[in-house]
Amino acid sequence: MASSYQVGDFEVSIVSDGYLRLDGGAIFGLIPRILWEPVIGRNNIDDEYRIPLGLNCMVVRHNNEILLVETGMGNKHDERTRNRIYPGDYGHLLEELEAIGISRNDVTAVANTHLHTDHCGWNTIEKDGEIIPTFPNARYFVQSGEYKAAINPNDRTRATYLEENFKPLYESGQLTLVENADTIIPGITFLPTPGHTENHASVLLESKEESAIYTGDLVHHEVQMERDAWISAFDILPLISLETKRQVAERAITDNALLICVHNTYPGVGRLIQMENGRKKFITELATNDINKDDQS
Ligand SMILES: [Zn+2]
Repeated sequence: MASSYQVGDFEVSIVSDGYLRLDGGAIFGLIPRILWEPVIGRNNIDDEYRIPLGLNCMVVRHNNEILLVETGMGNKHDERTRNRIYPGDYGHLLEELEAIGISRNDVTAVANTHLHTDHCGWNTIEKDGEIIPTFPNARYFVQSGEYKAAINPNDRTRATYLEENFKPLYESGQLTLVENADTIIPGITFLPTPGHTENHASVLLESKEESAIYTGDLVHHEVQMERDAWISAFDILPLISLETKRQVAERAITDNALLICVHNTYPGVGRLIQMENGRKKFITELATNDINKDDQS
């Protein structure tokens, strides 16, 4: 059962595409293994020093809208990619959506924080040799600067910007390119969070004095939310990431915002608090359906 949370009027469910394993050194950038290994736990690190990353996507149901934020790895990768470049167990998003009563036709809006392949894989599917949008009735929302970067990749970004994940949306007329903090559906907007990519944008939910931030790749692990200088080597603008992380952390603490972190262990949801010693701590939030379960037992 998908973990659910209430944010004002918004019903939020976290659905997982599975998990992925990536090089721990790349995830933690300048931070030496001697510091990050105890955080991850030796048992979670494989023989190739890869660590597991969740693929937590977010569903928001409100009025007539069903918004899906991020679409995981998808199912279009070939054998070599699955075995060597992106090992893991993923491709489960559609089943997970079905399990909470949502079919491909039901989704009315899809938003991507950026267009790296682990965030937009299920944007499209292959059907009869053709790549088509997975969600035929959805508008897809992407930052226009991110789309430009994705269709004009450089040698560093080429391997992760796969046209098949976004070009068919443009061709079908379903793609809406947005600028900065534009609205996705009423009450839900992009929150520009540059650093990982120049036009990376988190997703902000605001309703009845409550708020939530779907962070995207602002962080790859919750410890990076607690420690400003722990920045992934995947970020193309690390010093911008540093400043962005400071600002988002401050906002999350002040507003007591719910944080949804895509690559945390499922469901990856929590809040950031400031401790007396000045350090920040990420506190995992119990899902409302888990709380209700406890009440009944
Ligand atoms: Zn990612």
